[in-house]
Amino acid sequence: MKIGLLALQGAIEPHARSLTRLGVATLEVRRAEHLDDVDALVLPGGESTTISMLLERQELFEPLAARLADGMPALGTCAGMVLLASEVLDGRSDQRSFGAIDLSVRRNGFGRQRDSFEADITVAGLRPDPDRTGGEPDHEPEPFHAVFIRAPLVERVGPDVEVLASVDGAPVLCRQGGVIVSSFHPELAADLRIHQLLLSAVERGASTRPPR
Ligand code: GLN
Repeated sequence: MKIGLLALQGAIEPHARSLTRLGVATLEVRRAEHLDDVDALVLPGGESTTISMLLERQELFEPLAARLADGMPALGTCAGMVLLASEVLDGRSDQRSFGAIDLSVRRNGFGRQRDSFEADITVAGLRPDPDRTGGEPDHEPEPFHAVFIRAPLVERVGPDVEVLASVDGAPVLCRQGGVIVSSFHPELAADLRIHQLLLSAVERGASTRPPR
């Protein structure tokens, strides 16, 4: 398994570290041909307007849209969530998004008062972190320590989207098929369980897809 890291702008290094700790190979994706070698893609935090512009400049937008439409799993964090959503509110007029998950998200939607904050969130269906629990199967899953930085706010959730975690009633971790998005930065936590969700999506896809 090889996981691509969209490396046009934003912070990919912490994602690379998390994935390396999970024992998977990573590849920085900057051009369309890099997509041929990856089983899934991480779209990192950063600035979604800039990443959108660079995706077009690098002629990467259409090839990536095609892979997503074909069912490639993806994890989008913060700006990555904005890029994967079907509708972007308070975006730049020329900003594009992939519509890979049926959400309407408002850029920087948590407002000035809550520009950046941290919260311990309960995530539905997350298995306990074996590093912390010694692998005991019936141990209560621990909350995930989520760091929010100028985070997007989910304002509409489509009928096929699972909300896996919320803060004050706002969805902050959502999944539709193999596409997982978080308004927070899981790569800034030592906890690897959100990245593990992406690896599970790849494994599920591999077991349901006929061999190429
Ligand atoms: N506000 C940024 C955007 O809309 C996202 C911020 C982040 O990724 N930390 O692209």
